[in-house]
Amino acid sequence: MADEFLTLRAANELRMQEWPGAEKVTPAFQGNELAGEVGEACNVIKKLERSRLGIAGSKDTIEHLAEELADVVICVDLIASTYGIDLWSAVKSKFNGTSHKIGATVFL
Ligand SMILES: [Mg+2]
Repeated sequence: MADEFLTLRAANELRMQEWPGAEKVTPAFQGNELAGEVGEACNVIKKLERSRLGIAGSKDTIEHLAEELADVVICVDLIASTYGIDLWSAVKSKFNGTSHKIGATVFL
């Protein structure tokens, strides 16, 4: 899994070199971008729940939710890149800390 994080980071950084205007991106922009993507994922979840609960309104798909969750992960990695954070190390440390705190036996 750590290799996939490294692959994402390398591709994210390379693509940003090709993205027109990316040199103007600030951490504030990235934070708002992440909030937007989280909102898009939440909106899909709302529509999935609407269908599940039998509430009238527009519907959505699990495939669309997967796309929006992918956007969230991509944005998170870009923010981690901006701040020089090793995202896999951070995830591992946080996951294991929580496992320890709640007495779970599952660690990364
Ligand atoms: Mg999106």
